[in-house]
Amino acid sequence: MSLRIPPELLAILGGLRPVLDEVSLDLHARPETRFEEHHAAARLTAELTGAGFEVDKGVAGLPTAFVATHRGVTDGPTIAVLLEYDALPGVGHGCGHNLIAAGGLVAAIAVARTGHPGTLAVIGTPGEEGGGGKILMLDQGVFDGVDAAVMFHPADRSLRARHSLASAHLRVTFHGKAAHAAKAPWEGRSAAAGTQVFFAAIDAMRQFIQPAARIHGIVAHGGDAPNVVPERAEVDLYVRDQTAAALETLIGRVHAAAEGAATATETTVDISETAPRYAERHNNMVMADRIADYTASLGLELEPPSPSNAAGSSDIGNVSARLPIIHPYVQICPRDTPGHSERMRDAAATTEARDATQNMATGLAALVLDLLGDPGLLAAAHAEFTQGA
Ligand SMILES: [Zn+2]
Ligand SMILES: [Zn+2]
Repeated sequence: MSLRIPPELLAILGGLRPVLDEVSLDLHARPETRFEEHHAAARLTAELTGAGFEVDKGVAGLPTAFVATHRGVTDGPTIAVLLEYDALPGVGHGCGHNLIAAGGLVAAIAVARTGHPGTLAVIGTPGEEGGGGKILMLDQGVFDGVDAAVMFHPADRSLRARHSLASAHLRVTFHGKAAHAAKAPWEGRSAAAGTQVFFAAIDAMRQFIQPAARIHGIVAHGGDAPNVVPERAEVDLYVRDQTAAALETLIGRVHAAAEGAATATETTVDISETAPRYAERHNNMVMADRIADYTASLGLELEPPSPSNAAGSSDIGNVSARLPIIHPYVQICPRDTPGHSERMRDAAATTEARDATQNMATGLAALVLDLLGDPGLLAAAHAEFTQGA
């Protein structure tokens, strides 16, 4: 089915295309990693202030987080458009968050210009890549009073929804005993050996975990010099599973593997978590189907969700446990282009990517207007949310 986009909304978004172009390219050219997105936050809040939004910067104690609100002509619900704008270390905008920010921005400005009911909020959520910015903001009450939240994400395909895994970011630190590696190695106990046995134990476990679960990591510190038995070594490990409950169990097995590796190497180990845990995602299909109906009228077909679509993790999962959300995907590059890659980064700066983002932003604006003005749609979204909770 396709739904007609109100002509005045189409016209406003057409007029905002230069803003989408400039902001997405500006952010792309100045990639900033988690919680360092000062340029992006300044640019986005300046655009929102210029468009008549009331802007609150540095919310939830995060300098690069913000909430911008636009009050409507009559009372009504509060609908939030979520922006992400962090880049990846080394790769830059390999996740295309510059397009999330620019597309969400123009969608919100367009809705603000229509004279909508209710309250439109634009929530700037930093540190999605490993920082869990949305979770920190959720805990600080930033989402209190928000009736529904919408955003989209660039990808190698266009989808209404995709599952995402619960995940935890572990730091596993082995402590050994330093010694001269040639003159008296028997005096030492190698923390680096602890990490080796730990990875071997994780690999031995793989056959016996759920197909959707993922355990992957790096040695973040392996010692200081080859001629010194390493006293300290660190592994940064992501652990993911279908649900937060399944994740909890799997983390217990990872802890056991680490303790076993420490016992085997006569080292000790401590495990901490470097970010809040990401919960699995609950996609609200009432809202996802509505945006798909709108984008279809622009020639952008969003595929229904399929279990065969590979899942990552995102901090919007935690938001989805508290209120109805959508997180559809818009294709900006050839199918099977890997996420977080240089190819994805280069795609995020193309005209084709911005054409696709423009269509998604238009659908997003039409959906937000419906959520603000059509109590039946919001009630249906909430009914689905309550059933799933
Ligand atoms: Zn992303
Ligand atoms: Zn990403």
